[in-house]
Amino acid sequence: MIEHRNFIGGEWLAAAATRPIVNPATDEVIATVAESSAADVAVAVRAARDAFDSGPWRTTTAQARGRVLFHMAAVVREHADRLAEIETRTCGKPIVESDMDVQDAATCLEYYGGLATKIHGETLPVPDNAINLTLKEPVGVVGLIVPWNYPLLLAMWKLGPALSAGCTVVLKPAEQTPLSMLEFARLVHEHVPELPPGVFNVVTGDGPVAGRALVESMEVDKIAFTGGTETGREVLHGVARSNLKKVSLELGGKSPNIFFTDCDLDAATDGALFGVFINQGEVCSAGSRVLVQREIAAEFMTRMREKTARIRLGDPLDRATKMGPLVSREHADRVLAAIERGRQEARLVAGGGRPAAQARGCFVEPTIFESDNSAWIAREEIFGPVVTVIPFTDEADAIRIANDTPYGLAAAVWSRDIFRCLRVVKAVRAGIVWVNSMQPCYVESPWGGYKQSGHGREMSLHGQEEFLETKQVHINLGEAPLAWY
Ligand code: NDP
Repeated sequence: MIEHRNFIGGEWLAAAATRPIVNPATDEVIATVAESSAADVAVAVRAARDAFDSGPWRTTTAQARGRVLFHMAAVVREHADRLAEIETRTCGKPIVESDMDVQDAATCLEYYGGLATKIHGETLPVPDNAINLTLKEPVGVVGLIVPWNYPLLLAMWKLGPALSAGCTVVLKPAEQTPLSMLEFARLVHEHVPELPPGVFNVVTGDGPVAGRALVESMEVDKIAFTGGTETGREVLHGVARSNLKKVSLELGGKSPNIFFTDCDLDAATDGALFGVFINQGEVCSAGSRVLVQREIAAEFMTRMREKTARIRLGDPLDRATKMGPLVSREHADRVLAAIERGRQEARLVAGGGRPAAQARGCFVEPTIFESDNSAWIAREEIFGPVVTVIPFTDEADAIRIANDTPYGLAAAVWSRDIFRCLRVVKAVRAGIVWVNSMQPCYVESPWGGYKQSGHGREMSLHGQEEFLETKQVHINLGEAPLAWY
């Protein structure tokens, strides 16, 4: 069993205490990590501050920063199997999904490595004898706070653009799943010596202690956060209490996946299940509300139930497994309690408990409810393998239900009528809308939510912008400035 420390200023530093890390498939303790105090976080912030203020990272060439990111990506690809196995052992996701996450993590670093040399300002045609232009500059020291559902990948969504911009970072992984990030730090430390010490720091620990210390630090210039909406609210309070640092938030969702009568039923029911059960339903953009036009609702439900019964749960390291355990006992209990509460108002159609075949581990059966959109289970983000099927009458009814949520992360619409699809695309208030598809996710394209699903965007050029300041520069070419007094 490995005892991990924080990675700060290019060194491995012990913290005030340690915490155990549990494999949710076996309930076994597999490692211990640092349980950082606010003082431990302050040491990491100081290292990042020094590296930003006096280190070479910010002032080195964009080409050099890009090459470092390419090198990091190559190291990730070279050690992909090990990183994927660690990911599966800590968050429970099937190994085939961890494989994809690790490749996507490397792709993300490559994308932002390439983007480093494309960051540029603009010249503005001001009405004077002058040159007016903007400079793009790194935001400074950034605190990256990530959740447990895609530990490595979501960290890279933030680390890639932060490093490419010239920022220095302190990253806090989720308390249950820090091992892939610590392994990534070890690989970078050993194989990427051209990354200066203090540019990339990792502190592990509890959100309300270590996360909060990062959020409230007067020396941090920005927080990039992914997590639950209520935690996002806490982050905003912390930012308001401290130095009004910049903040981007990727929060929760209750995304509608909308199926009209003319959809291809077989592909559609596959899309409905994939849309919500991938990664055990622990996905911010999960299509956890399946809206089905009333005429096809009965047939749709029959097919969903049949296909759900065939989903293979089990050892997530087995390549045939399609659904692993949830991330922790605590989270599995929370999801099971939500299912119990759901039964009071909604009709349980499939699943609803712990699978009998799994004697140990944090498994929950894929579960289907049917109700209208007012039921608690249809409104609350459960963040597990739970879907509510909601029948609707016509296009206007589907749009009304889709938008009847405080969230606005993602949506999908399935129909052979492209004009209807495009009307729905325009009417739904969500940051991502898929047509005849659910969940594709590309680093080239922006990710983020409307309404209470967040502030700002990740990935793409938009994600790069979140780590940049814009400075206006005005160069007077005229004679003397205006004589005013
Ligand atoms: P949490 O909000 O509980 O935690 C997210 C991160 O914030 C963790 O690192 C956590 O630390 C930390 N944290 C907790 N409390 C505080 C605090 N007071 N101050 C600073 N940091 C804090 O979310 P989960 O980890 O449970 O992740 C699930 C949530 O993430 C879901 O709601 C999901 O929708 C959302 N999500 C959104 C995505 C998007 O792109 N919009 C993508 C993926 C997930 P610790 O682990 O120690 O508690």
